Amino acid sequence: MPLYQPVSFINGQWEGAISGATFDVINPATGDVIEKVADLSAAECVKAIDAAQEAFPKWAVLTAKERAVALRCWFNLIHEHAEELTHLITEEMGKPLTEARGEVVYGASFVDWFAEEGRRIYGDVIAPHMADKRILAIKQPVGVVAAITPWNFPLAMITRKVSPALASGCTVVIKPSEDTPLTALAVCELASRAGIPAGVINCVTGMDAPAIGRVLTSDTRVRKVTFTGSTQVGKILYRQSAESVKKISLELGGNAPFIVFDDADLDAAVDGAILCKFRNAGQTCVCANRILVQSGIHDQFVKAFTARVVTMKVADGKTKGSDIGPLINADGRAKVEEHVKDALSKGATAICGGHIHEAGPLFYTPTVLTGVNTEMRMASEETFGPVAPIYKFDHDEEAIALANDTRYGLAAYFFTEDLSRTFRVYEALDYGIIGINTGIISTEVAPFGGVKESGLGREGGPHGIEEFLETKYGCIGIKP
Ligand code: ADP
Repeated sequence: MPLYQPVSFINGQWEGAISGATFDVINPATGDVIEKVADLSAAECVKAIDAAQEAFPKWAVLTAKERAVALRCWFNLIHEHAEELTHLITEEMGKPLTEARGEVVYGASFVDWFAEEGRRIYGDVIAPHMADKRILAIKQPVGVVAAITPWNFPLAMITRKVSPALASGCTVVIKPSEDTPLTALAVCELASRAGIPAGVINCVTGMDAPAIGRVLTSDTRVRKVTFTGSTQVGKILYRQSAESVKKISLELGGNAPFIVFDDADLDAAVDGAILCKFRNAGQTCVCANRILVQSGIHDQFVKAFTARVVTMKVADGKTKGSDIGPLINADGRAKVEEHVKDALSKGATAICGGHIHEAGPLFYTPTVLTGVNTEMRMASEETFGPVAPIYKFDHDEEAIALANDTRYGLAAYFFTEDLSRTFRVYEALDYGIIGINTGIISTEVAPFGGVKESGLGREGGPHGIEEFLETKYGCIGIKP
């Protein structure tokens, strides 16, 4: 039995659009149409909210253990189908198979973690203010959740939101990216096979994201919106959610600095920068967007880093040994090209790369630029591609000021062997996530999220489940 049908998943059923309309899902490596998927109208998405609303009381009333058993079964099924999911991710999104395989493991880890975390939701018994009163604070699921997700992690961005929602007793309507709906649908099918009841998890597919977004944010039955994507769309959803005062979590854009101090372990810093910059062809919100290197180590770093970059294999993610797959689409490629052109026109030097790769129209050659400065577009905008711009600095204060000179505040990284500097810089960076002597920070056990215009709320870790809970205060009068 196939892992998905190319339609929406509503109330445990596969549902096409009434109009019969579809949209194409394209393999970015080849340009081939992989699938034609049902293009639901916004009005049809209301059915998914109806289903989630109806399922909510029955799901919420289960014990945390009963929900954990279903989630654990879902986790096992994701692992059993890891190879199919891996290929699906690479086909619709483009990342190399090794990375897609990693995403399946990473994505599944949220299901497992929150299955356990759901059993550790506690409340409080508070010392009363009067002798004839007793005071409780209990935690309850917020209700129906709308989860709007991006294309760069088609599986993990769904499980990171849906697992804590389900574990806490909420029900969900997912709106996956129109670029990558297939993995989302496959994950829903596996949830259904795991015994998660009809209506608890729904997935609406459609091209008109703004219209679907308006339905999800205007319906008063939806009590929480959780979104990962651009800052621009996040702000729209924040505004729209204000009307019915929904809870909201936003995981938005970043402009991650990656700072290498003179006393850094050079090999570790180069390894960290390669992983942090080029994972997913540079298409993650925590990818290093600005590499700041202290003058004493600058030339050595550029040499060692570039020596690694030029060995990276650019090819279809399905090709053995591929390190860099295609960019997601022509818009993504155009942005990378414009940023590089702008930097070169303002005095940057391309040490390697700086052009489209012969593997195909959406493949971009891994690029190292030196002499980058704050006048260039890539200093303030997220490039979202395999381009490493290197800035030179002299003093710690200068690096911190440069790093913080952005409206974003998601992830930042730095490399140093000095303990005092470690604490000074860790505390001074205005970011929600700090990688110290490492380029990889994502894990299900830690709170992931940004400050400033990078978002609100945290995903993962013990903090992740709080986002889906309300605190209900109970004041009990007793006879003394
Ligand atoms: P990206 O540039 O990474 O694709 P977007 O913020 O455009 O990021 O998209 C992230 C998700 O938000 C996708 O599922 C997309 O369909 C959805 N989306 C885009 N625009 C809107 C909108 N106005 N309202 C609701 N969802 C939207």
